[in-house]
Amino acid sequence: MKPSFFELTYFETYYFANIINNLLHEPFSYLRSLNEFFGDENYKRFLEPFPKQSRFHDFIYHVIDSITYEDITDEEIELFRSRKRKLWIEIALDHFGFTYEKFDDWISQHDKTREDLNDDEIFEYLNELKYAGPYEDLLERMSEEIFFILFLNRQVLQNFNQMAAHQIEDISIDSLEPEDYMYFQKDGVLKRVSIPTWVQRAVLFRDRGMCVSCKKDLSGILSIGSIENFDHIVPLSKGGMNDITNIQLLCESCNKSKQGHSIDTSIKYEKWY
Ligand SMILES: [Zn+2]
Repeated sequence: MKPSFFELTYFETYYFANIINNLLHEPFSYLRSLNEFFGDENYKRFLEPFPKQSRFHDFIYHVIDSITYEDITDEEIELFRSRKRKLWIEIALDHFGFTYEKFDDWISQHDKTREDLNDDEIFEYLNELKYAGPYEDLLERMSEEIFFILFLNRQVLQNFNQMAAHQIEDISIDSLEPEDYMYFQKDGVLKRVSIPTWVQRAVLFRDRGMCVSCKKDLSGILSIGSIENFDHIVPLSKGGMNDITNIQLLCESCNKSKQGHSIDTSIKYEKWY
């Protein structure tokens, strides 16, 4: 497979990674924002097996999007009125070199001045960037960076997949639209499908060819295509998704003893040296 590369600039990557970690670690403190993503109408986003743009990418995108809007506080607006200051979104767009309509230009185009700004104008500007401008490209780009560092953190992946599983477990096939029947084995359980080779390859490298549980070296006996060792972190039978973020390496004997139970993923990692 041809390797693909991207530039990792670490622009506020850890800031958002930390927020996402907290969100998934203490879901009850953040129920409103989690409901917007996992809520009732959104189950469809968990059905299609193994999209390359994983559900976790989507979640990261959703979090950055919400924060961009939530961060427009009175305090922030006051700073805008009183002195020259860029909006966060402008700083981010500049960092990645996107071209866009600057907020100052937008203000004068709308015959306004900084002094009469309020949050409505900022939301309007953000919405215009969102629907006509490079907002989506920016958030996709940032999601890719954040995904890159969080994909190593199996605990975060497990927390995320458990949140999704609560949703999937509650789905009865009768309530679905006919085109969605095919994704299900039975009520609350998605069908087992073959794991794409790009998923196997990524998981094999992430877990360094070792069973995550007993650390048995599988690199000698494992090859792409022998799928017995690719395990769903949250089992399909417990509402687990077919998503790259829900797959880990497990040896045959650990896999056998797991057998459809939910067992916490390992938080032990091999040191760099
Ligand atoms: Zn093992």
